[in-house]
Amino acid sequence: MSTDHIQSIAQTARAKYPAGRCLTLPRSHTVHETSLKLWKGQWIPAPACHVGTFQDVADTGISVYGPSTCNRTRCREMREARSGLNLPQWPDNFQMELFAA
Ligand SMILES: [Zn+2]
Repeated sequence: MSTDHIQSIAQTARAKYPAGRCLTLPRSHTVHETSLKLWKGQWIPAPACHVGTFQDVADTGISVYGPSTCNRTRCREMREARSGLNLPQWPDNFQMELFAA
């Protein structure tokens, strides 16, 4: 595969999947998180969980808004990080102390 062809695939994918956009692959209902991967010297958005090939993702992948539904480790971790579920949670009965007037 020529350098020009690789650059073309990477440019197509970057235009198709702006930062934060999720994607699905044909014949699948699973929505994946995307992250930038370095592929033959080009940064290219791809499923965070590494499913599919770079060319298929660029050519036939479908750009969608989240939330993702993929439960493979990397997609799940990105989804949880984005939704803030990894942040410490307040206890249910927590009440802030009020400042004295
Ligand atoms: Zn995934």
